[in-house]
Amino acid sequence: MTFATLGLAETLLQSLETLGYKTPTPIQEQAIPAILEGRDVMAAAQTGTGKTAGFALPILHSLATDGIKVGSNSVRALVLVPTRELAEQVHASFRQYGEHSGVSTYAAYGGVSINPQMMRLRRGVDVLVATPGRLLDLYSQNALKLNKVQVLVLDEADRMLDLGFSTELDAVFAALPKKRQTLLFSATFSEVIRSLAKARLRNPLTIEISPPNSTVKAVKQWMVPVDKKRKTELFLFMRKDRKWGQVLVFVKTKRGADELVGILHAKRIKADAIHGDKPQAARLRALESFKAGEVQILVATDVAARGLDIDDLPQVVNFDLPIVAEDYIHRIGRTGRAGATGEAISLVCADEAPMLAAIEILLKQTLSREEEPGFEPDHRIPLTGAAAIAAKKIKKPKMPGRGSKGTPSNWVGFDDAPKRPGARPAARPGGMPRSTGKNGQKQNRSGGR
Ligand code: AMP
Repeated sequence: MTFATLGLAETLLQSLETLGYKTPTPIQEQAIPAILEGRDVMAAAQTGTGKTAGFALPILHSLATDGIKVGSNSVRALVLVPTRELAEQVHASFRQYGEHSGVSTYAAYGGVSINPQMMRLRRGVDVLVATPGRLLDLYSQNALKLNKVQVLVLDEADRMLDLGFSTELDAVFAALPKKRQTLLFSATFSEVIRSLAKARLRNPLTIEISPPNSTVKAVKQWMVPVDKKRKTELFLFMRKDRKWGQVLVFVKTKRGADELVGILHAKRIKADAIHGDKPQAARLRALESFKAGEVQILVATDVAARGLDIDDLPQVVNFDLPIVAEDYIHRIGRTGRAGATGEAISLVCADEAPMLAAIEILLKQTLSREEEPGFEPDHRIPLTGAAAIAAKKIKKPKMPGRGSKGTPSNWVGFDDAPKRPGARPAARPGGMPRSTGKNGQKQNRSGGR
């Protein structure tokens, strides 16, 4: 299949040729014809699948060919995104694809002066990419009318809800015309996303090109148990030991990001942070320097990093595990793109065991634990996933003929249990399977190198 067979306008095909896009990605193959037909679409797709072109191309095609002129302060296509960075990126894509189409585009987000945005909107704009908060500011100040919106895109809808934009979304929906096309893109289809879609979309075509964590297949994921206070030391050691080049490091807090960058600077390592407290210009600068190879370590919080299009990153390090398990998938989506292999390494301390368990449940996979010699933690991380289930089963065997009431909880019996066919081998005292090493973790040092 080619973009021409999808029926896209010649001006768009010209841009795609310049960009070197030869064939549509799977999500584009499904989404583009449906959107051109005017259908609502609900798609499970994350960054890296080509989803932006999947909605931008058919929207640009329709706007370029329907002969409608945008009125002042009006918008014909509204694309809502969770973060400023994503607004910039999505807008840049619209601009690239629509370069020869005559369709006007603009991005509006918070953290920068609202006045130039109000001025620009006076002339009206065909495609507006916006974050929900700033959009509503513009709307409430009458800089923007939403009654002519023909198509609404919710990009990274799950993230918008995670960031608490639910009320803002309700307000936007209230201002939109009832008759419109609605396209919802989300990395995951959680219950809330499904109910949002049910309430706001009309008979949508559901596209699930790949399960949410499939982009991760080329990514080798593993974790290093470590005490919290030694994470920085471990990170510096691993970077040197394994000769890491550019690394994207995720931390939990803005303060944590600044602190780590400070330590890296003190070691004369070129590093920068990208987080919500940084002015937009500084964030973009950091990203550009990283992409240009001038910065070795980019330390990011989840909010700021969402949607960053950084290709071919060999390593992503989770210095802290994310609080929201889904963010783990977004984080590691930054490596192993487009068939390249990547590594996602999580430095995990005992406090983070619940988050680790939540991530493993989401991934349906237990992360391989690989202790770094010299950094074995004093505070051991409880077993998670299948290992925890196995350990529990071994720890408390059901002993026919013995009432559990009178049995001490740590009792492990060898003596009077009658042999059952297929029963597990007797456990060692202490409840740990024989193959388990220090700290109760499986010793596996070969997998992640
Ligand atoms: P996205 O998932 O929208 O963030 O896109 C991921 C990357 O894939 C971006 O750098 C796009 O420029 C690129 N891309 C999107 N569609 C195609 C395509 N059909 N062929 C080649 N590259 C593409």
